[in-house]
Amino acid sequence: MIRKKICMVGAAGVGKTSLVRRYVESIFDERYQTTIGVKIDKKTMQAGGREVTLLIWDMAGEDELAQVRASHLRGASGYLLVADGTRKATLETACDLERRIREALGPLPFLLLVNKGDLAAEWEAEEHMTDIARAGWTSIRTSAKTGDGVEAAFEELVSRMLEGDA
Ligand code: GDP
Ligand code: MG
Repeated sequence: MIRKKICMVGAAGVGKTSLVRRYVESIFDERYQTTIGVKIDKKTMQAGGREVTLLIWDMAGEDELAQVRASHLRGASGYLLVADGTRKATLETACDLERRIREALGPLPFLLLVNKGDLAAEWEAEEHMTDIARAGWTSIRTSAKTGDGVEAAFEELVSRMLEGDA
């Protein structure tokens, strides 16, 4: 059995906890709950004909940058870098977090999730998407509310993580 640790990373309120709940439990909750400490969810999925158990670490902190303490990410095979498409500052935070993680741990597979894709009227992310594409990042527009893109995002990350394995 393959076990892989992945981490949710991103500014406060972007939807990290909601994306995990959508993926693991297929539910969405409008209430805002500040995540305290670390929550680890488990989900078994199929990838490339193999069964993979994911340990999904959802981290928190007053200061979102505290989340990239190396101790949280140590042992992770990859991470989902989450931004809120309705708040462009969260994309800047994502860029900063990616750089810190790379400096602390070296290159790790990751995907950028531009979440809250259901809130099209408030969308602010578009102008940044060309820069992101130019940086060579893969980004997926997701909605924890409708479920759009969520399963695809986890599957894509896992397939990238397994590419390096025999
Ligand atoms: P976290 O701090 O990154 O863990 O963010 P949460 O998952 O706690 O979500 C913060 C707020 O955004 C909550 O009120 C959620 O209900 C809301 N939210 C999260 N994802 C979405 C989404 O895809 N669409 C909409 N409309 N709201 C979302
Ligand atoms: Mg949270």
